[in-house]
Amino acid sequence: MRPITSTAGSLFIVAAPSGAGKSTLVNALLAQEPQIKLSISSTTRPPRPGEQDGREYHFTTVEDFVAREKAGEFLEHAEVHGNYYGTSRLIIEEQMRAGTDVLLEIDWQGAQQVRKQFPGAVGIFILPPSIPALEERLKKRGQDEPHVITRRILAAGGEMAHSPEFEYVIINQDFTTALSELNAIVKATRCRFTQQATRNSELFAQLGIHANPN
Ligand code: 5GP
Repeated sequence: MRPITSTAGSLFIVAAPSGAGKSTLVNALLAQEPQIKLSISSTTRPPRPGEQDGREYHFTTVEDFVAREKAGEFLEHAEVHGNYYGTSRLIIEEQMRAGTDVLLEIDWQGAQQVRKQFPGAVGIFILPPSIPALEERLKKRGQDEPHVITRRILAAGGEMAHSPEFEYVIINQDFTTALSELNAIVKATRCRFTQQATRNSELFAQLGIHANPN
């Protein structure tokens, strides 16, 4: 499939090891920037207490997930901590073509697959301020079984080793600072030439600006 390059909307990929505070940061960003659409992934992981089908995830079975993956329904998919996760191809492509800003909260494996199809995607990796802080956040969250927490702590190093593949890195030491950094990345991305020129094509034409001067 041909990569989608020139669109008015931006595609943000946010990744982090479990416990870095990614979902809290993303939810706070979306409260400030409600026009950004969060992609709801499908997963075979069982819902945590308080999670609702269709809100945090579309919860499904391994059989259904595998069948949909074989049918090419996923833009990207990966096995993370023993469960399958995937992003709907149709929904993302529709939103990107409509010029909507879309945010994917996915792991580094999914990010690699998305970058190939959307070369303009903006990758943001959230790091914890330390390993003990990461462990403490995971334990405090209290939503996972102890063996799940241990598995996630052990996986964190391997995940963070992929942070150099991302354009931006945010260290989530102070929440307010981290959120304003995330916001700044979103705002700067919207000012990229391609995004501005697509969104304001009439103005650019009036001003005599052409996308490819050569
Ligand atoms: P959790 O089970 O804590 O909600 O998510 C575990 C990991 O799976 C996180 O790193 C999260 O970003 C990642 N993840 C969630 N949805 C997707 C997805 O659709 N694709 C991929 N590749 N990873 C995902």
